[in-house]
Amino acid sequence: MLRGWVGSSLQAHSFEYVRPATVAQTVQILGEKGGRAKVLAGGQSLIPVLKLRLANPQVLVDISRLPGLAFIQERGGRLRIGALSRHRDFEESKLVRDKYPILADVAASLGDPQVRNLGTIGGALAHADPASDWGTALLVFETELIAKGPKGTRTIPIDGFFKDPFTTALRPSELLTEILLPKSEPGNGGAYLKLKRKTGDFATVGVAVQIGLDPKRNVTRIRLALAAAGPTPMRAVKAEQALVGKRAGPTAFAEAARIAAEEGKPEADLRGSTEYKRAMIEVFTRRALETAAGRTGR
Ligand SMILES: Cc1cc2nc3c(=O)[nH]c(=O)nc-3n(C[C@H](O)[C@H](O)[C@H](O)COP(=O)(O)OP(=O)(O)OC[C@H]3O[C@@H](n4cnc5c(N)ncnc54)[C@H](O)[C@@H]3O)c2cc1C
Repeated sequence: MLRGWVGSSLQAHSFEYVRPATVAQTVQILGEKGGRAKVLAGGQSLIPVLKLRLANPQVLVDISRLPGLAFIQERGGRLRIGALSRHRDFEESKLVRDKYPILADVAASLGDPQVRNLGTIGGALAHADPASDWGTALLVFETELIAKGPKGTRTIPIDGFFKDPFTTALRPSELLTEILLPKSEPGNGGAYLKLKRKTGDFATVGVAVQIGLDPKRNVTRIRLALAAAGPTPMRAVKAEQALVGKRAGPTAFAEAARIAAEEGKPEADLRGSTEYKRAMIEVFTRRALETAAGRTGR
């Protein structure tokens, strides 16, 4: 065990640093330390949080080199993603590019190359930024999150995962280990579109769409989610309902985009006014629907 510190010499906060060798050891340490421990994955959100004194953990549990938690593979009718998969892994995965292009969209739009090399999907989900690109994109699947804790393994549906800004259903003693998505089906397509001010910026608005069309291009399945449009990544359920059974095309997409813009609750900030963000939700929803529908192959 090592000791580390963050901050200026005047305000240094010391903590223990441990690097467990296995998931079991990690869970044991988290169980013993409870809320006094913090998992460190890629450090792309946690290190800034520590530097800003927004968290003062007594123990940092470094999982960045834990074996067996970085994978993206289809198995047992699902796409299985290890929580330590880096953003860059999705950009480089042929499976993702060929069959789950929405995930490649997310990875390519997130942060900058340095962040993408180190940051993990598990860390992004656990951090739960209201503008989280991963959090938003995974809402458009029936995603399940696997958490391991001292009392065993839990499966958490994504719809109940985000509780508040930077707050999830994960317990302090739980490690997010895996993310499960339904396998890609013919006639389905997805897209994630993000408006940002510059490379490396979080979303001004982000829109994720996963759509299923029958051979006549009627919408059989639709999920639509928004980033930076409320206290957590959120689904635009009314916009989804407006699309079910409709013929995919400009009329239906324009109406759904209008409804999504009404459903979103973006707050004014340095990235723009509420009115501007609503207008952008409408534009980006329409475009995301068009792109996703184009990717269905129908
Ligand atoms: C310059 C910059 C730009 C960025 N731009 C974007 C952006 O455009 N869009 C975006 O969505 N994000 C952005 N991010 C955040 C980035 O995606 C982070 O990589 C991600 O939020 C955290 O992943 P990480 O592996 O670095 O986690 P860490 O920073 O190590 O951890 C983040 C939090 O998650 C917890 N945690 C990590 N892994 C687990 C786990 N397996 N189980 C339980 N808890 C865990 C940690 O304890 C901590 O609370 C940006 C970050 C930076 C620094």
